[in-house]
Amino acid sequence: MRADGKREGRGTIVGVRRDEGAATTSAELRAHNLARLLRAVHYGGGQLTRAELTRQLSLARGTATVLVRDLAGRCLIEELTGPVDATVQRARGRPTGVPSAHARGPVALAVDLRDDSFTVAAFELTGRCTVLDRQERDAGSGTGVLTDVAERLEVRGRQFGDRVVGVGVAVPSPVRGSTMVQPTLTEWQDVDVTAALGPVLAGNDATLAGLAEARRGVLRGVPVALHLHVATGIGGVLLADGLPVTGAHGSAGEFGHMPLTGSDEPCRCGSVGCWELDAGARGLLRAAGRPERGDRMLQAEQIVAAAGTDPHSGRALGLVARALGRGIGALVNAQDPEAIGLSGLAALVYTADPGAVTAGYLSTLMRFRRGDPPALLPSTLGDLGALTGASELVFDAFLTPRGLSTWPAPEQQTEQKAEQKTA
Ligand SMILES: [Zn+2]
Repeated sequence: MRADGKREGRGTIVGVRRDEGAATTSAELRAHNLARLLRAVHYGGGQLTRAELTRQLSLARGTATVLVRDLAGRCLIEELTGPVDATVQRARGRPTGVPSAHARGPVALAVDLRDDSFTVAAFELTGRCTVLDRQERDAGSGTGVLTDVAERLEVRGRQFGDRVVGVGVAVPSPVRGSTMVQPTLTEWQDVDVTAALGPVLAGNDATLAGLAEARRGVLRGVPVALHLHVATGIGGVLLADGLPVTGAHGSAGEFGHMPLTGSDEPCRCGSVGCWELDAGARGLLRAAGRPERGDRMLQAEQIVAAAGTDPHSGRALGLVARALGRGIGALVNAQDPEAIGLSGLAALVYTADPGAVTAGYLSTLMRFRRGDPPALLPSTLGDLGALTGASELVFDAFLTPRGLSTWPAPEQQTEQKAEQKTA
């Protein structure tokens, strides 16, 4: 989408930038086009040739050449040799470059914070991810985990230096701003993530998993999509043109705490009859007659894995699959998405028993929707969903004229000037 709200190229999802008003001076226009081009490289995952980017952004070829040279000069991209450009006369056979991530280019650090572990990863401009740290929470306290995360971020910050353009954090709680307002871990109640970890961008893990699917996964190019992430509970997000609809305070998408399957049981959240009691990991443990103790996700995964050979597990899976489908049907009635992404346990359950999920889904869909129900799409990002979404928060802020004006960092600029003088 362009800043004026129009779609930019076929199937391309580009977020709205609030700081990008109409460019009036030539310097503003240039900054605007540099940010557009860099975002297109980012969304394209470094796979698009300069010729394809030029067409997608409706730029003149000469303009694109100048912009690419500028971005390369600032170490934001590096142009690799690509295939022959079909738009150039065949006889000349000129290869077109592929603008890709620069070896000294920007890096987003991302954290996936969970009740029982955390992961830190680095993302390059084109979305390439390197997992740097993964740490289980053994006997340590929740507060101790945050101290450990802050310490790892400091170490990785030193490692990547001026290349770090921001830190994104996925948290296992609804958020208001950057505060965890109802985490499962009581020690994190009302913890402001920026107070604990410094200047970071924080978001709910299921919301960020959905954002990642819209940008780099199964919901890419889907104008209105619903994403559901099932773990112990169920979270998710509605995405319009690739942007999460997160509500007035950032805490929308708590679909697990809606009474979609009709029970009267009290839930840990303070409500009654919540969907996650029937369709999350807790629902699966209860259906299988297992106590809700220990690592519930691990046990739920074991039940799904055993369902093919053990009839008791198979029955439990069938019940939960049907409950999952019924809830999805109700949400589709409410939100009218074109497709539904499924991650975590939802993807596992759907893959293991698509028939039961689909039966539940069709049973609650309104009649007029049943002829062409929106597709259910299991995630391809797997465990990297929330991390990838956290990195997208950082790049969304950086890939704007204002964000790019901070690059390279003042120290690098000084170094470059010194190099130019000695050259
Ligand atoms: Zn609830």
